[in-house]
Amino acid sequence: MAAPLTATAFMNALRAEGLALVEVGSWKTHNRNSKGSFGPLNGVIVHHTGPYTTEAGMVSYCVSGSQALPGPLCHGVIGRDGKVYLVGYGRANHAGGGDNDVLNAVIAESYATNPPATNKGEGDPGAVDGNSRFYGFECINKGDGREPWPEKQLDAMARAAAAICRAHGWTAKSVIGHLEWNDQKPDPKGFIMASMRARVAERLKHQANWTPSAPAPAPTASSMEARISLLEKLVAAQEKRLVALEKVVA
Ligand SMILES: [Zn+2]
Repeated sequence: MAAPLTATAFMNALRAEGLALVEVGSWKTHNRNSKGSFGPLNGVIVHHTGPYTTEAGMVSYCVSGSQALPGPLCHGVIGRDGKVYLVGYGRANHAGGGDNDVLNAVIAESYATNPPATNKGEGDPGAVDGNSRFYGFECINKGDGREPWPEKQLDAMARAAAAICRAHGWTAKSVIGHLEWNDQKPDPKGFIMASMRARVAERLKHQANWTPSAPAPAPTASSMEARISLLEKLVAAQEKRLVALEKVVA
C-alpha cells in the first residue's frame, strides 16, 4: 500500500529508467479525481490499445476518451518505437473492476509465476475499483494477436513498469496485465505477462539506466581472418620450439 507518487516523481522515475518522454497538454492535472480516489496504489497494469489508425490519433484518444468512457484512459501511452506519452495523472479510466484475490496476491507479491485467475470484472458484485489501485500504461498494438510487438516497445514497457516498482520498492509481481485483473478483458495479447514480469525483475537487479546487452555479433569475415592469422603465428612458434628441441636432443 502506498501513497501515489507525485506527477513529477512519476515523470522523473520514468526518465531515470532511460525512457524518452513526451508530455501531452496539462497531463499533470488531467485526471478523474472528482469521481473517486486515486490510491492507495498497489501496482501497475499493462494494456494494449486495440485497433488504431495512427499513433497520434490513439494518443489523443487516450487523453480525451469518449462520452461513455471519459479520459484520461491511462497515465502513459507507449508507442511502437518505445516513446512514452504522458497523458494524465491521478485517477484514470483504465482498469475498471477486478478481483480482490488478485489484488491481495499483488499486494503480498506472493504468487509463483502468475497471480490467481480473476473471476471479476467491471460491474460485478464485489469487484474492486482498479482505477484507484493501479498505474496504467496503454501500449499501442492492434490487439489482434497478429501485430508484432517491437523489441523497442517491449523494452520500454518493462522500463516503465520497473520505474514504478523501483520508486515504490515493489517487485515485478506488482505488474499485471489487464486480463489478469478484469475477467472481461483480453489485453495485452501477443506476449505473456510472465515474460514481461521476468524483464521487469531483471531490470530491478540493475541500476535504473541499465540497458540489456545486445546479443554477441556473428563473426565477420575479417574477424575470421584475424583468428586464422593468429593460429598461423602460434603454429609457427611451435615449429620454432620443435626445431630448438631437436637441436638439444641432437
Ligand atoms: Zn486494458
